[in-house]
Amino acid sequence: MDDLTAQLPDGAVLTDRDVIERYRRDWARDPEAGWPRAVVRATCTADVQAVLRWASANQVPVVPRGAGSGLSGGSTAVEGGIVLSLEKMRDIRVDPISRVAIVQPGLLNVEVKKAAAEKGLWYPPDPSSFEMCSIGGNAATNAGGLCCVKYGVTTDYVLGMEVVLADGTALRLGGPRLKDVAGLSLTKLFVGSEGLLGVITELTLRLVPAQPPASTLVAVFPSIETAADAVLAITTSLRPCMLELMDRTSINAVEDFTAMGLDRNAEAMLIARSDAPGAAAADEIAQMERHCQAHGASEVFTTSDPDEGEAFAAARRAAFPALERLGSLLLEDVGVALPSLPTLVQGIEKIAAENAVTIAVVAHAGDGNTHPLVVYNATDADETRRAYTAFGQVMDLALQLGGTITGEHGVGRLKKAWLPTYLGDDVMTLTRRIKDALDPQGILNPGAVL
Ligand SMILES: Cc1cc2nc3c(=O)[nH]c(=O)nc-3n(C[C@H](O)[C@H](O)[C@H](O)COP(=O)(O)OP(=O)(O)OC[C@H]3O[C@@H](n4cnc5c(N)ncnc54)[C@H](O)[C@@H]3O)c2cc1C
Repeated sequence: MDDLTAQLPDGAVLTDRDVIERYRRDWARDPEAGWPRAVVRATCTADVQAVLRWASANQVPVVPRGAGSGLSGGSTAVEGGIVLSLEKMRDIRVDPISRVAIVQPGLLNVEVKKAAAEKGLWYPPDPSSFEMCSIGGNAATNAGGLCCVKYGVTTDYVLGMEVVLADGTALRLGGPRLKDVAGLSLTKLFVGSEGLLGVITELTLRLVPAQPPASTLVAVFPSIETAADAVLAITTSLRPCMLELMDRTSINAVEDFTAMGLDRNAEAMLIARSDAPGAAAADEIAQMERHCQAHGASEVFTTSDPDEGEAFAAARRAAFPALERLGSLLLEDVGVALPSLPTLVQGIEKIAAENAVTIAVVAHAGDGNTHPLVVYNATDADETRRAYTAFGQVMDLALQLGGTITGEHGVGRLKKAWLPTYLGDDVMTLTRRIKDALDPQGILNPGAVL
């Protein structure tokens, strides 16, 4: 690949095995990850074009990579391929008049939020990983998060992008216009495309006025089912800007990790927030409190102190790293329509009991999007087998309930076996036709999704 190296800036191509090791997996820790021939850290769109032209000419697989915080094996390296890292592309320009940010893909979500805040604006999508995931990765996975229950997911904020196709062609789609229906919605096609259709090299993101200060409610329940019932009662009449659920296992794992004084005996905990303006926030919190009490909450705590509220949101965000300390994890992301949420959480408890495995549940409950996490000892072959069985059964259950196998993390490599059942033959065929049209040689992220 000397001819490619010659076209790229000094230091862009990394071939040292120790360095490559750091780019082989995302947070799904895929044991099947291959050894790429190189990691290329692009510095500009032209570098990305050079890589893709060379890869097309030589039929070499390319795995686009943001910050590697994915939870579905989407950026797992492919044997003999190139890992194309966007981490060095970090420019941002905020235009407060159009209320947009023009941003390169390697900037972290938290950095986009900070740049927007400096102009009195807000970029809402807030995956729990917001301090470690890239904005390009967010667009490529259509990331969700905690405030999405009220403010929507990444795609709702992507107005336009620059994207490089497998053959090296750079396209500009959409732009800083709030309304634009000219042509097919191609911008949206690339959002959530998990590195299969092109490499995103720039995004135009919609910003909104800064969020009003939020009030927070924390309620403790005697069972996860009663907590899920309270979620339904709340979402029927109110629009909280956060409605998160944690079960006993995840509460205890977080308490072990943070020692912040969470109730270790609680079977479930809801963390809800209201950012309604002025006195309306207190009213919304009071209504949520009544719903929680009516559904058997044993304790309800409320606060309008932003720092105190943020501590509870941080506890929820700490759930994945905290649970990772208990063993290996199989990460689920199943989602159902809200009325099926109590049935889903009941069914997950049953699957855990039948397979004698621990399944911790954390959930963006207000969206019906749950993260059952199968915790297992990877050195125990029998437990590993039971964990994988339970993992599949949770996705089967979600499908039986008319739900999805992934609400925000993407299909990647981890959930690929369930995609045909979820989409059905006709939609799978159409998806393959779109992939073939844009990437006829199949060099972009082979082995992921399809
Ligand atoms: C502790 C923790 C909490 C999390 N919480 C949430 C959450 O609340 N909500 C949520 O949605 N996710 C969450 N995630 C998952 C993850 O952070 C998101 O999926 C995030 O969007 C991935 O961004 P990344 O930059 O790390 O992408 P990567 O992991 O590097 O890549 C993800 C996918 O996008 C593709 N890709 C990356 N960049 C580009 C690009 N520029 N062009 C084309 N394709 C690209 C990759 O090929 C891969 O398929 C969490 C992860 C962790 C570790």
